[in-house]
Order: sequence, then structure tokens, then C-alpha cells
Amino acid sequence: MPSRKKLIIGNWKMNFNTHDASIYLHRLQEAITERRDVQVIVAPTTLTLQSLSLQVNRRKVKLAAQNFYWRDFGPYTGETSATQLRGIVDYGLVGHSERRYLFHEQEKDIRYKVQAAVRNGFKPILCVGETRAERTNKETHAVLYDQLTASLANITSDEVGNVIIAYEPVWAIGTGDNAKSSDVVKAGSVIRRTLRNLYGDKVSKDVQIVYGGSVTSSSATDYLSIPGIDGLLVGGASLQLYEFSEIIKKAHDMQK
Ligand code: PEP
Repeated sequence: MPSRKKLIIGNWKMNFNTHDASIYLHRLQEAITERRDVQVIVAPTTLTLQSLSLQVNRRKVKLAAQNFYWRDFGPYTGETSATQLRGIVDYGLVGHSERRYLFHEQEKDIRYKVQAAVRNGFKPILCVGETRAERTNKETHAVLYDQLTASLANITSDEVGNVIIAYEPVWAIGTGDNAKSSDVVKAGSVIRRTLRNLYGDKVSKDVQIVYGGSVTSSSATDYLSIPGIDGLLVGGASLQLYEFSEIIKKAHDMQK
């Protein structure tokens, strides 16, 4: 089987104004080389996406939305739809734990957003993962299964190859308490097995699975070495250009 491309995704969250985002992107593009086997993606705040889409060198970096609404148009004050992001982004985060727990997004919203991204020609990066309490109660396996089956309910086997799954244990996000490789191995195999049950062996092998949760340049190689883990979703460390470039360099070195 040809190996899946490595993805290094930077989630900038609610940081950088238009000016700072543009300078960062410019410097990032200077710092990295174009590679076919490693895809760099950044997820800036929605405000900056339009202008960055005119600046971005898509051979080096692709853009992701951090959030979007699943209906196409209408009376939804303050929202931006997947339809409005068509052509601007290549990816969109869906189901990030900050959206689930701070903004009370429900499985139904997440399911519709995954579908809206696919319908509008960009790839959803579907975030799944257990809270600390669920981990303590040994519910990780069940949580991953339930989140995946609920979120992918409207996605066909022809479409699922365009969905990226991010294993993001909630207790590891922004805490510095990153998951052990053994945790990621276990979660990765639960995710792959669930995909196999839903879509069959052949199709499930095409789906890229990434890990996210307090990744730094020191821990990146360990996660990238795990068979079946195809990349990283990086929050805090992606705000520092040197650190994020180092993570990308680690991914390049491993693909040599
Ligand atoms: C994230 O926000 O998806 C994330 C993984 O954040 P951090 O790397 O800061 O834990």
C-alpha cells in the first residue's frame, strides 16, 4: 500500500490579527521547502482567511477554517458557512473540543458540518477524543466509537477518504500533559477498526489519522513514528514560527 501523506496542521485558534497572520505566513513559506509527501496546513481565524488565501503558496501551505456553519445561506447572524468558504480553504476543523465543550456543539452539528465541508469541496478534519473523566472511567474506546459513528453517519464510502480524523484527547489539549505514544497507538487502532467496521478494509486504509494534544518539536518524532498515525495537529506550538518549522522539519526528515 502506498504510504499516506504526512499532515502537519497548525491551529492558531483566536490568535494573530490580519497583519500578524500575514507576516507569519510569509515567514513560514520562506522557512519550509515544497514537499509532496508532507502537507502543511494552517488554521487561522476566519477573519484572515480571505486575505491569506490570496497570499498563500498552496504548493507549500494549505488553509483550514477553524469553524463554519453547516447551512449554506440564510438568517444566521454571525455565522460563516462552508459554502462561503468554498475555494478559500482546502480543509476545515470540525468537532474541536473547544467547540464541543465551550460552545456546546452537539453531535448533530458536527455530523452536519462534516457533510457540509464535503459538499463544499474541502476536507473536514474531524476531532475526536475523550475527556479526563472518561479516560479515568476507561471509556476512551466507547467515546471514540460513538463520536466517529455519529459524526460520519452522513458520509459515504466514496467520501470518507476525504475526511481526516484527529485523535485529540481533551485532557492533553493546551495542558502540556501530552499523551504517551502507547495511548496514541491504542486510540489509533480503535479509530482504524471503527472505520473498517463502517466502511470496510480497503476504504478505511485511505483515511489519514493525526494526533493532537500539547505536541512540541521534542515530541513530534515519537508520534510521527507510530504506524497508522499520519501527522499532527498542533495548537500552542504552532504560534511560534521556529517551533512549528522544526516540527515540519521532523516530518520531512522522517519521509526521507
Ligand atoms: C489543539 O488545539 O488542537 C491542540 C492540539 O492544542 P495544543 O497543541 O496547544 O494542545
